[in-house]
Amino acid sequence: MLQQALYLLEHTYGYSAFRGQQQHIIESALAGEDVLVLMPTGGGKSLCYQIPALIRPGLGIIVSPLIALMQDQVSTLTQLGIKAAFLNSTLSADERRTVAYDLRQGNIDLLYIAPERLLQPGTLQWLQQFQISLIAIDEAHCVSQWGHDFRADYLQLNQLREAFPGVPRIALTATATPRTQEEIVQRLELNAPKQFVSSFDRPNIRYSVQAKQDGRKQLIKFLATQRGNSGIIYCLSRKKVEATSEWLQSRGLNALPYHAGLPTELRAHHLTRFLREEEIIMVATIAFGMGIDKPDVRFVAHLDLPKSMEAYYQETGRAGRDGEPAEAWMVYGLNDVMHLSQMVDRSEAHEIFKRNEKAKLEALLGWCEETSCRRRSLLAYFGEQHETDCGNCDTCLTPPKTWDATEPARKLLSCIYRTGQRFGAGHVIDVLRGKMNERMKDLGHNHLSVFNIGAQLSEQKWRSIVRQLLVKGFIHSDADQYGAISLMERSRPLLRGEIQLFLREDIDSKPENMRKTKTSRYNEVSDNDRELWQALRACRKTLADEFGIAPYMVFH
Ligand code: ADP
Ligand code: MG
Repeated sequence: MLQQALYLLEHTYGYSAFRGQQQHIIESALAGEDVLVLMPTGGGKSLCYQIPALIRPGLGIIVSPLIALMQDQVSTLTQLGIKAAFLNSTLSADERRTVAYDLRQGNIDLLYIAPERLLQPGTLQWLQQFQISLIAIDEAHCVSQWGHDFRADYLQLNQLREAFPGVPRIALTATATPRTQEEIVQRLELNAPKQFVSSFDRPNIRYSVQAKQDGRKQLIKFLATQRGNSGIIYCLSRKKVEATSEWLQSRGLNALPYHAGLPTELRAHHLTRFLREEEIIMVATIAFGMGIDKPDVRFVAHLDLPKSMEAYYQETGRAGRDGEPAEAWMVYGLNDVMHLSQMVDRSEAHEIFKRNEKAKLEALLGWCEETSCRRRSLLAYFGEQHETDCGNCDTCLTPPKTWDATEPARKLLSCIYRTGQRFGAGHVIDVLRGKMNERMKDLGHNHLSVFNIGAQLSEQKWRSIVRQLLVKGFIHSDADQYGAISLMERSRPLLRGEIQLFLREDIDSKPENMRKTKTSRYNEVSDNDRELWQALRACRKTLADEFGIAPYMVFH
């Protein structure tokens, strides 16, 4: 059977060797075992269920929440000569009938189905008439109520166990935390599953995080190192997505917006353009994500903070699936820290849930302020210990300087205290810097002893201090009080002068200092090479158009 698997790999998919643990996973599934696969995004999970499903007799069922991508996946498979179809809410009654007919004729080997569709009354019974080779549950972390992709329908997928006894089930996800792992096995009721955990290291991705000074300016500098590349820019809100993409377009860049508020057709159109064309920058909310399979995404930029390390890893994982160098670039600042923690505070969620969200956010913030190798600490978060620094992330390339911030921090804490712990960061900093305005006078804050005791530091520097004190838990910003900052227990010893505090020096964004982007192959080549490169690209595009396929499918 392994022979068959190799044959399919080479002749149907056109790959020369299995990657990572693919072969072992396929062997287990072929042996009829339940399997749990944890593999990073882009690791090659699809083959792990497609190949055994094709080899074992009968129909392979793939449960996937990614309705928007099913069409694309199925047409890619069809182009490879694999008989695949999908069932979800986008199909008309006629189309559904055609699929049902093809199924009865034995004309389908792989059926992609949305969970809500699978769980409709009667669907399971209807599928029972067919011989089922294997059931794959993709994006299996959607079953986790702790995760950010929770789908209630996934909780009912345990029904598959009784409906199809003896049929191997393979659950796949790119979310690695041990708790999610356990939850998947339990909730899906997998039978003593073999677990395959791949390393989450993505050595070709270079991580960098900058303190936000002027987000747009910093973005433009970054994009200047990415000329000719495809990439994704993540923003938190729909409004910001639109504003950013318009602004980039006005600067002559090929930017497209993507968020859940756009008309379905426009969204699909932008997705298709991103997948098929080159040099497109997708400006998106997290609605753009799971399952996007474009190998040559050269960068993922975050203009706003994601919600957790898991989300960050998933989102940046969309870069460099082809194994070529890629960039994960992020700017973040005080406002992000306040905004996100307020969002958590304000959410209607249950208290336990909120605490969990908060802990996740704090882990991410701590990582942003990291002074040692970013890759190592990212992987450590996912339970992977690495011996050496990567030598490639921003902290490795430009080790951040720290400075003794004890005195300024004490001034800040005193100022928060003297102004009654009722004001936001902006006002507290104004008091410290002795800014005179009507509000200051109305409040009488210009007469306080803390007024103007911090004029020697810039506003930016103060914002950096506030941000780091928030992240380190010395102070707290209260959502119900419009972001008013108050002191936490931890600040006492600092105020009393019992401890010293070293903070990270924010680095000014100077891309010239950054690694000469290995990423941008385009920038490194000579003019001669560049012409050749362009000619190749044009030719690739023509071929792709000719055959109606994505350019990356022509050649790499
Ligand atoms: P995942 O679902 O884990 O995110 P995919 O299954 O979508 O990843 O695969 C990511 C990319 O890697 C795809 O372009 C796929 O064709 C490619 N790929 C998968 N397995 C192999 C392999 N053995 N050799 C070469 N390329 C592969
Ligand atoms: Mg996948």
